[in-house]
Amino acid sequence: MEGVILKALSGFYYVDGGDGRLIACRGRGKFRHQKLSPLVGDRVTFTLLEGESGILDSILPRKNQFHRPAVANIDQLVVVASGAVPVTDPFLIDRVVSIAEGRGCESVIVLNKCDLDAAEELYQTYTQAGFPTLRVSAETGEGIPELREIMAGKVSAFTGNSGVGKSSILNALQPDFCLQVGEVSDKLGRGRHTTRHVELFRLDHGAIVADTPGFSSFDTEETELRRPETLERTFREFAPYLGRCRFTGCAHVKEKGCAVLAAVKAGEISKSRHASYVRLYEQAKEVPEWQRKES
Ligand code: GDP
Ligand code: ZN
Repeated sequence: MEGVILKALSGFYYVDGGDGRLIACRGRGKFRHQKLSPLVGDRVTFTLLEGESGILDSILPRKNQFHRPAVANIDQLVVVASGAVPVTDPFLIDRVVSIAEGRGCESVIVLNKCDLDAAEELYQTYTQAGFPTLRVSAETGEGIPELREIMAGKVSAFTGNSGVGKSSILNALQPDFCLQVGEVSDKLGRGRHTTRHVELFRLDHGAIVADTPGFSSFDTEETELRRPETLERTFREFAPYLGRCRFTGCAHVKEKGCAVLAAVKAGEISKSRHASYVRLYEQAKEVPEWQRKES
């Protein structure tokens, strides 16, 4: 049988076989020998034993993998931002989006609190850059059906600065969701914000969502942000201009004859996205060579 690991706890992997049952599986000894740790989000094959238990047989190839939080096969990051208090700093969006781009993970920009502020600048910036961008209000329900549609059949992880409305949106998507999260935390005997485990939840409409407290603080060990020379590839709207700069190895920071800078000047690339690129580039240059290896 095939399924997805929704949570891992005390040596058991809880696999959703698709019919609503959670099968508590043990790993096989061979995983330990191969130094393969099953991750939440892994697609696995398993043998069903009696009761609701089973044994993991294999881990199917991963589409992507994150370290902090440790989770695999995220289809899309739902980056929640807001033009109303607390106003989101676009640099934080761009940083997390660059990590996602480096891992083959789509980013959906969700501008919440549109009942208070239309977030015009953010909307322009991310639509122009080529990201699916939605205005929603967890308060009035505007845009929630569209978000639900974007999430259907996919594994999504929510990220965004605190207070932007992530919990409210999850609640608007499915009113019993937060209750569910609370129940799980109670079982663990710890508060939601102190838990370090990741868990995936299946929403009613077939979407799977990661409850990932750590996603709002993606750490700097993420390798994509450590290599100045490949950073340009994590800004998708730069693609048509790469290779057109006067100098090979152009950093697109202040070089003469830079095609990216020309596009910024012409309004084809947003100033704010380019400013984030420059900031990430300068940070990447500070990273010592030995720290840049694949982690
Ligand atoms: P989180 O920290 O990202 O999970 O944010 P919360 O969901 O806890 O929301 C923070 C605050 O913003 C709460 O007081 C919510 O009631 C409020 N809020 C969330 N979404 C909206 C919205 O769409 N419109 C308005 N006006 N307030 C919202
Ligand atoms: Zn250039």
